[in-house]
Amino acid sequence: MKTIRLFDQFDRVHDYLRISLTEKCNLRCSYCMPEEGVALTHKTQLMTREEINGLAGIFTGLGVKKIRVTGGEPLVRKDIGGILDDLSQLPVELTLTTNAVLVDRFIDTLKNAGIRSLNISLDTLKRDKFRTLAKRDDFNRVRSNIDLLLAAGFHVKINVVVIKAVNTDEILDFVAWSDSAPVHIRFIEFMPFDGNQWAWEKIYAYSEILEQISGRFAIEKLKDHRHATAKAYRVKGAAGTFAVISSMTHHFCNSCNRLRLTADGKLKNCLFSKEETDLLSPYRSGEDIKPLIIDTLRKKAYKHGGIDAPDQLADPLHSGRSMIRIGG
Ligand code: SAM
Ligand code: SF4
Repeated sequence: MKTIRLFDQFDRVHDYLRISLTEKCNLRCSYCMPEEGVALTHKTQLMTREEINGLAGIFTGLGVKKIRVTGGEPLVRKDIGGILDDLSQLPVELTLTTNAVLVDRFIDTLKNAGIRSLNISLDTLKRDKFRTLAKRDDFNRVRSNIDLLLAAGFHVKINVVVIKAVNTDEILDFVAWSDSAPVHIRFIEFMPFDGNQWAWEKIYAYSEILEQISGRFAIEKLKDHRHATAKAYRVKGAAGTFAVISSMTHHFCNSCNRLRLTADGKLKNCLFSKEETDLLSPYRSGEDIKPLIIDTLRKKAYKHGGIDAPDQLADPLHSGRSMIRIGG
């Protein structure tokens, strides 16, 4: 049978699915988790291991070629080993985004699931600041787990959410790390989500990041992958690379190929879309959900969930979900 490929009305193929496994996390990053916490969805409304596998299989049948498992923190899910094992049987490239706190327990699980590349969140190289930002004293574990992954031969990308006056003073330290070790640093412009106290004044733009780095290092531009969200660079002769994800100042929506499935089985056609389509309930009742997927994609706006004015994007009511409940 011929695979249906998922195209939107702007002729963008969508072959990359991000699945959030949980709304729970063992850290409390303020840009992601609202200070007051989040009202957790009842367990019965969350996708089970079997449902995740079943839904993922429908997406791969429609042409999805890459699946990223995320959350919340995916490694806190008790059945994570089984979920990765199931997904690894599908014809996809499987990857994971994690805060790395628990990674040392899962090196073999990750290897056995065929995962070669991971995205790790780390916004500071200082233990005290980590404790302030993530509200947990786990810096040393995260840092040593990154070394474990490197020693085991994984391709490691480090996601750094850059917030003015919070970690802008560490940009050069992160780049120096990519100079000496094979890590791939990705500076992400701070994005607005429900409850994360976002403000334009807190954004440290792509241009500012680049200006700071080129004032210190001799750098070269690298070729970006067709669907890349990050603009990649390298310090000349470096072991690793660095990149900037300029979601706010230079959007990359024209090459978007991503769909998102929340932990409660809702399909979002954009990180910023307000609308979501419940796939889990009809799937549970045995309905064919393929038309729902195709229709949700057809409604995808050209950029930023249909929002043009940046201030509207910053309206927490727009996305309606905190990042921890979307899945980054
Ligand atoms: N717990 C995992 C982790 O932290 O890597 C996976 C989930 S987390 C929501 C996924 C990614 O979203 C992380 O790299 C995080 O830095 C990013 N993120 C969360 N809130 C963000 C925001 N407001 N702006 C930009 N990136 C954000
Ligand atoms: Fe947890 Fe990741 Fe959100 Fe931090 S960014 S609170 S680690 S889900």
